[in-house]
Amino acid sequence: MQAPLIGITPDIAQQPAAHGPTDRLLLNLDYTEAIVAAGGIPIVLAPTIEPAAYLDLLDGLLLTGGGDVAPKCYGATTVHPETYGVSDLRDHFEMTLIRLALAADLPMLAICRGLQILNVALGGTLLQHIPDQLPHALNHRQQELGIPATDPAHDVSIRPETLLATILGSGRIRVNSYHHQAIADLATPLQLAATAPDGVIEAVELPHATFVLAVQWHPERLFRHHPLQAALFSALVDAARLKMRRRAARIP
Ligand code: MN
Repeated sequence: MQAPLIGITPDIAQQPAAHGPTDRLLLNLDYTEAIVAAGGIPIVLAPTIEPAAYLDLLDGLLLTGGGDVAPKCYGATTVHPETYGVSDLRDHFEMTLIRLALAADLPMLAICRGLQILNVALGGTLLQHIPDQLPHALNHRQQELGIPATDPAHDVSIRPETLLATILGSGRIRVNSYHHQAIADLATPLQLAATAPDGVIEAVELPHATFVLAVQWHPERLFRHHPLQAALFSALVDAARLKMRRRAARIP
């Protein structure tokens, strides 16, 4: 049987090119390698078409990291000066894609910005800059601490009786950290699955969905040397395989 197809959302950025500033899709290969290692086929989703066009093709979805979500998406009227990498095209594409995917009960793993936009799409809000809004928080940008990308930087506590706990176990694990924003108000449908020692939300999930899981850390940078983190991608691909079989059998 064919392997499940996992749609992956790339970042969008304007870059210099020989013919002038050019809008480009950007995607770290770590994401596609993690999906392949888990047994899925990565499909990079171009945001230049309405996401409904992709929905029936996909068995699962991976929302990746990248620039900040535009604060207007969650009703903020001010924009913190540290805000970077905003793409209205990406925000629109992903917010629409998330709503369609949830309606179709498509398995979804959301990473970093992916966790943040999932929360926003469901009505939650974001802290625009952790150091200003939580002055006693840990430094969640491990590059500023000199910690290599393949090494974890802080603990998270995983709540028992969550989807995340069934994959990684409950209790404390160490994760990497490359974010300056975090969830402020958790969207009502989402459930807390892990927090950092400073209280920053590090994982959430959607209890009534088959598989919707979001983490604030970057398992795609860890999965090669930290097998526990590879289990997140395997869990997504396994859920997508079930979705693929149900679709083949025409079960909704
Ligand atoms: Mn963190």
